[in-house]
Amino acid sequence: VLALLAACASDTPLQADTAPLPRWTVTEEETGLASADATPLPDEVSDVPIIIGGGPAGLALAGELGRALVLEADAVVGGRARWAGGFLFLVGTPEQAAAGIADDEAVALADWEALTGAQPTDATRAFLAANADVRARVVDLGIPLSLGRTDPVTGRIREHSPAGGGQGLVDALVGALGEEVELRVSTPVRGLVLRDGRAAGVYTDHGWIAADNVIIATGGFVDRADLVELHSGWAAGEWRLGDPTLANGDALDWAESAGLGTASLGAIGAYRDLLGFAGPDGQALQVNTGGAPPWIWVDADGARFVNESATWSVTLSRLAGARSNVWAITTLEAVTGAVSPEGRPFLVEGEAFHCAADLASLADTLGVDPAGLEATVLSVGTYAERLALDPLGRPGPTFAPLFGTPCAFRPGYVAAKNFGGLSVDADGRALDTSGAVIPGLWAVGEAAGMGSPGLGGTWGFDGSLAAVLWSGWRTGAAIAEEQAASGG
Ligand SMILES: Cc1cc2nc3c(=O)[nH]c(=O)nc-3n(C[C@H](O)[C@H](O)[C@H](O)COP(=O)(O)OP(=O)(O)OC[C@H]3O[C@@H](n4cnc5c(N)ncnc54)[C@H](O)[C@@H]3O)c2cc1C
Repeated sequence: VLALLAACASDTPLQADTAPLPRWTVTEEETGLASADATPLPDEVSDVPIIIGGGPAGLALAGELGRALVLEADAVVGGRARWAGGFLFLVGTPEQAAAGIADDEAVALADWEALTGAQPTDATRAFLAANADVRARVVDLGIPLSLGRTDPVTGRIREHSPAGGGQGLVDALVGALGEEVELRVSTPVRGLVLRDGRAAGVYTDHGWIAADNVIIATGGFVDRADLVELHSGWAAGEWRLGDPTLANGDALDWAESAGLGTASLGAIGAYRDLLGFAGPDGQALQVNTGGAPPWIWVDADGARFVNESATWSVTLSRLAGARSNVWAITTLEAVTGAVSPEGRPFLVEGEAFHCAADLASLADTLGVDPAGLEATVLSVGTYAERLALDPLGRPGPTFAPLFGTPCAFRPGYVAAKNFGGLSVDADGRALDTSGAVIPGLWAVGEAAGMGSPGLGGTWGFDGSLAAVLWSGWRTGAAIAEEQAASGG
């Protein structure tokens, strides 16, 4: 640091004091600061690592380090986990064993391709190997876990629900931070300071803060429609999830200006839900599927293929995405009752929403086999009336017969989370585009594709918060080790 600061201690502007600047140095102009305001000296020097972003990844990392400065753009910490159910993907747990579910790392690896669309990577293996430790640490934070939903692809329950949901997790992570962690909210970082081949600090609206270690924990980019469309190939801009300002893609913007490596950017986990239309401000209007609604999902054969009570699921997207023509069959009466009064004006028939006088005409409009659809609707009436066990696992009492004017929604995508992002090594060190480590620069959580791009395959998996926490803890330990080795 001293050498760096000495190199900067001149009256000439930053751009002029080392010529030429390293290719990946982020200049003041790129950060939006006027170059006239540029100063060669830092406005503040942090003797602890700077963590950019106070979501679960940044908070876990801060807890592991014990000493850190967390710069959070928002007025509160917690990131998107504040909206999250907080479901955690865990295997081989006591909760599973108590429910008679035989599962472990090997079973999960064998399931991985069916679950995520791609073979496991080394990072996947490392994450699964650390699974028991992640569970133990969450429980040690004082958070009891219970089993969540059945995975619709593998039929296993691996989601674990933390008491208090995502906010409960955030509160526990914050509660465990020591006194030497400063949480500085309402402090957006505008750019990275990278000098002489290594991280040297960050820019904020209050100037340059120098630090030896900088960790990017800014989350993903699913709220950036331009980036989602560019990398995923589907028009996801209409529907968003949670606060539209959080998954802001800052890490990718910095990657572009600073020459950081990225990978698996097309691996975007999407939820499919009964969202046939976009409401005010592009926010998805969600049809309330609680209780025992008359909804079933069918494919081009008119056949059901999934337990519809698990519609809020990344892995369900994989299952539905593999079919060319998927529709949610319901009735006009049910739809009208389920959509809020403000949403009803948006409920117009179009490409994604159709009603018809009878099932055969509806099937014709949808391009679905009419005989298959008729038989499926009849069978649903049977499950509903007799409370019989559905072969696909949907509980009998949640079925309702489809009486009324038949209608169909095309279930829509909601881009939910990123499984690609900044390239990192096995400890979370950021890599440049040639694959070389940038000393002092690290990336964790969704900014690094849940800890390592490609870890979650093509589609991702539900409960990836477990990987977010794992990556924060793993990188915290690696930084602490480096600091200890250098006597810092
Ligand atoms: C409604 C909803 C439900 C979800 N449910 C689940 C679930 O049940 N299970 C699950 O596994 N996942 C779920 N997720 C996804 C999960 O919340 C995220 O994957 C997780 O929060 C990512 O953690 P993170 O710390 O990497 O990033 P984030 O939580 O996105 O946090 C990043 C933080 O960085 C801050 N930041 C960004 N840019 C800057 C900047 N330039 N300067 C300073 N700060 C900055 C942001 O304000 C934010 O606080 C859900 C998400 C939503 C929206």
